[in-house]
Amino acid sequence: MIFNETKSPLIRAMTRDGSARIFCTDNTAIVNKACAVHKPSNTAAAALGRILAVTSIFGVMLKNKKDLTTLRFDGDGPSGTIICTADYNGDVRGYIQNPKADVPRKPNGKLDVGSLIGRGNLSVIRDEGVKEPYIGISPIINGEIGDDITNYLLTSEQTPSVCGVGVRIRNDKDTGAAVCTASGGFILQLMPGADEATVLKLEKNAASFSSVSSMLEKGKTPEDIIATILDGIEYDLFDKVDTYYKCDCNREKFSLGIKSLGLTELTALLREETGNIDTICHFCGENYSFTHEEVENLLEELKDKYRKKLEERKKEETNQ
Ligand SMILES: [Zn+2]
Repeated sequence: MIFNETKSPLIRAMTRDGSARIFCTDNTAIVNKACAVHKPSNTAAAALGRILAVTSIFGVMLKNKKDLTTLRFDGDGPSGTIICTADYNGDVRGYIQNPKADVPRKPNGKLDVGSLIGRGNLSVIRDEGVKEPYIGISPIINGEIGDDITNYLLTSEQTPSVCGVGVRIRNDKDTGAAVCTASGGFILQLMPGADEATVLKLEKNAASFSSVSSMLEKGKTPEDIIATILDGIEYDLFDKVDTYYKCDCNREKFSLGIKSLGLTELTALLREETGNIDTICHFCGENYSFTHEEVENLLEELKDKYRKKLEERKKEETNQ
């Protein structure tokens, strides 16, 4: 399911001399969907928003249309595991183990995403659907996401890169819920044989660059961010794609999930629950409600399957 209200632009550009490429996204609308689904603390919303931005960019870097990429942060901080998955179009979904977990702000007033995530491993999984998925693992440097991704790209993929991400959160004055006012990120990568003069200019621009979230909050666009980072360098803007919060869950998958409970648990569930049985997707919050009768039918299907298996086994035994 694609959530149309989450349309978020993602732009790609390349320096004219082929020295560097850059991807930049404003994923504010996507992060607000994640906030609606997970009802996170402010710091958890910022963590999720940053990882969603990077994952969308990793998505559009994929080579084949059916590929998927997953970023998984397994830190020892209170947020627990955070998992985001994107496809070739940059459409993305995210999950956080403990969305309510929070930590105090840093002395400078910023949300302390690094302490919320803690230390551990970052895994990047690239699933091309046919072979075994490719998995790259690197340590979480500081849990602030930008530095972790920069380190991953350099050490695991041997690509010198700079990753910048930022999320601004305020609280709704009535409900207190986390609301995202600006979120986005960029990944700048040097290409093999990059021109030294261009690299020097990029380093100078990167050093004076303020932050993605402050620019977006002032109404700037991903194009403006790219123009600032590539200031003084000739470049071409390539495709601008719209990315969305997207989940591949459906009723069929959830009915299979119910069946996977097995005979004993399913029988117990039907005894306890007299009304509808609700299942909720951890990634998009969609509720799939099954009537008592529907679940009874699933149980019957399961019983049939077992009966057939038993008969087959008996046949085999008598043939022996
Ligand atoms: Zn879902």
